[in-house]
Amino acid sequence: MKHDFSELKLDRVTRRFAGAGGKAFNALDELTLTVKRGEFIALLGPSGCGKSTALNCIAGLLGLSGGSIWLDDLRLDTLPPEKRGFGMVFQNYALFPHMSVERNVGFGLRMQGVPAAEIAPRVDRALALVQLVGQGHKLPGQLSGGQQQRVAIARAIVIEPPLILMDEPLSNLDAKLRIETRAEIRRIHRELDRATIYVTHDQDEALSLADRIVVMKDGAVQQIAPPPEVYAQPANLAVARFMGYRNVLELDVAGQEGGRVSLAGPGISLAGVAKQPIDGRRAAVAIRPEEFAVGAPDGPNTIAGRIDNVEYSGRDALLDVVTASGAVLHVRGPVTFRRGDEVRVHVPPERVLVYRPD
Ligand code: ATP
Repeated sequence: MKHDFSELKLDRVTRRFAGAGGKAFNALDELTLTVKRGEFIALLGPSGCGKSTALNCIAGLLGLSGGSIWLDDLRLDTLPPEKRGFGMVFQNYALFPHMSVERNVGFGLRMQGVPAAEIAPRVDRALALVQLVGQGHKLPGQLSGGQQQRVAIARAIVIEPPLILMDEPLSNLDAKLRIETRAEIRRIHRELDRATIYVTHDQDEALSLADRIVVMKDGAVQQIAPPPEVYAQPANLAVARFMGYRNVLELDVAGQEGGRVSLAGPGISLAGVAKQPIDGRRAAVAIRPEEFAVGAPDGPNTIAGRIDNVEYSGRDALLDVVTASGAVLHVRGPVTFRRGDEVRVHVPPERVLVYRPD
């Protein structure tokens, strides 16, 4: 397999399964994506959205029901997994428990028939890259979860694959180790200068690691964009919800002037909001909890309510504010507020995103 590739191209990759009652459905529906050498791509979405199906189609562990996969001008989807030569890292490490770290890492090279004299230095280099020098003689069971995952990464990269595929590799690690290993994965990706496709349901992981995020839902791509764009301009309501816009309110379109729109609902009125392509008299707005200012004076874009729940989170708190009409707003605010307090919350109009209602 050649390594001096410039891009991997997925062209309308589709995978169908038999669902409930034998009715076929597309677990992956026409995924089209070009991954450049050096790029880090995150496939992000809720459980069941088709992320692992996509990764397994790329790896060759699942056949395609439609579409094709190319590494430059070489068609890959007709090749078995071992001929594609991709490195894979799984959630559960998938190490051989009876083999030493060194033998685990060298496994792929032995399978490829690489001469023994070449294997040792390549294994040493891979272990150095994942910062496990001196641990090669140990068995996986003698290592921590984070170290085992680094062995799995060394095993994936030792074969010098053009593409590294990772399926939720940090899920089994505790919070601190997850953040440390995340930084390691990014560093290893940079040093290797290949391409990485990384499956996760964790938006923070995707935002911190990826050059581009592919957001998926029900087997279909919702948005492909760099992290700041997915964060600030979700393509639709489903992406917005998934990216932490916890407040989604359906309101009436009260008026439009120039590029601005005003929206109203019981006890809520928002003015000067940037107009999106909405049709009809109803629109959904999406607002992040951290965009509200709590304790604002009465005025435009200010909503009154009573605090119904306070979830302490250290630096600040997540407040549930119930409006007079019974709508619940999730608002990040100071820890000084208590349940039962009457508050006003203000949102700047530029922080309100407008979508067609579901
Ligand atoms: P998770 O994060 O839970 O692994 P995912 O986004 O990776 O979810 P997939 O594992 O790709 O999702 O599954 C996508 C859909 O395809 C789901 O509805 C799942 O139940 C279904 N599916 C996956 N594998 C099969 C299979 N072998 N046969 C039938 N349906 C399947």
